[in-house]
Amino acid sequence: MKLSFDKRLAASYKSASQRARILTERWVNESIFCPNCGRLQMDKYPNNQPVADFFCSNCHENYELKSKQDNIGTKILDGAYRTKMERLRSSANPNLFVLSYNLQKLTVLDFLLYPNIFLCRRSLKGENLLP
Ligand SMILES: [Zn+2]
Repeated sequence: MKLSFDKRLAASYKSASQRARILTERWVNESIFCPNCGRLQMDKYPNNQPVADFFCSNCHENYELKSKQDNIGTKILDGAYRTKMERLRSSANPNLFVLSYNLQKLTVLDFLLYPNIFLCRRSLKGENLLP
């Protein structure tokens, strides 16, 4: 598996956050297979879709990508609170990809998958965790 980003893509963006978004999304699109069914190609939603970032046209699973520079750490910033709550309440709650990268070296450091069954609105005791 290739763990480096495409240098040519990085050269066309000046903003670090834009470069990171383009590079990480492209890397996932070209390198990751569907963890649910094994289909080799992930499909990308158009930008700014509230549902997720990627989907599998074979098994219809959705995947959201969260990327962080250097270390994944203990917190992952989410998008809009309201959108996240709506996702958790719906049956379309996406699985979560977490990717850490080094933008200077243009490399992937870690890539993790959190299945959506762990991103839920109820505790193991059945308590509702959402307001
Ligand atoms: Zn699939």
